[in-house]
Amino acid sequence: VSTTRVDKLLSSMGYGTRKDIAQLARYGGIVFDQKEILDAAVRIPISVDLPSRMTVAGKALDPLAGMVVLMNKPLGVTCSHKEAGALVYDILPARWRRRDPAISTIGRLDKQTSGLLLLTDDGNLLHRISSPKSQISKAYRAILARPLDGKEIALFASGTLTLKGEDKPLAPAVLEIISETEALITVTEGRYHQVRRMFAAAGNFVETLRRERLGNLCLPDSLDPGEWRLLGNEEIALVF
Ligand code: URA
Repeated sequence: VSTTRVDKLLSSMGYGTRKDIAQLARYGGIVFDQKEILDAAVRIPISVDLPSRMTVAGKALDPLAGMVVLMNKPLGVTCSHKEAGALVYDILPARWRRRDPAISTIGRLDKQTSGLLLLTDDGNLLHRISSPKSQISKAYRAILARPLDGKEIALFASGTLTLKGEDKPLAPAVLEIISETEALITVTEGRYHQVRRMFAAAGNFVETLRRERLGNLCLPDSLDPGEWRLLGNEEIALVF
């Protein structure tokens, strides 16, 4: 097993500087296997069960590197690390902003799009999902400003639709009409404002947009907008 210094581990997880951690340890704030670690320079084994064996200031240790968060992104927050205004990262515990490796969204949703959003500190996983080569399907529920006429189905399925300002036609997408002004659309690409621009190309206008599925991973009904939880490996596997 590999080991790590307690101060190094905890500062990389955003708990504070190494000095902060040393002080916390001295006062008995770090407990491993029921024993106080008074010297933060000691080494402990890194194992997946560490968060259940260690407490920091009385609380279970945060998840180790390699975490995946499933969030129901609310409207009005931005998938960015540095823009002004409310960010998706503000929804997570504040110290997670200081983690190294950093947590990032896997792909992005518009500020005015809600629904299924994954975040991770696993660069490999991020790439495997968001790379244009992955072709993982993404399903969105759209509410439209104008009635659908049914011709959108063939247009989106054609593989010849080209968005304004682009040369490369969109890959075929599947449209399922739910009602006059509601539809489910499944795409395999992630171009800028893609779904909104597709409906614009069909002479319509998207009023609300929510992502409901990524691969075979569905947004659970139990997760309200603004809520999130950690994903287990079996759930992550559903994406592929
Ligand atoms: N398509 C859009 O237009 N916006 C999103 O947020 C996602 C897909």
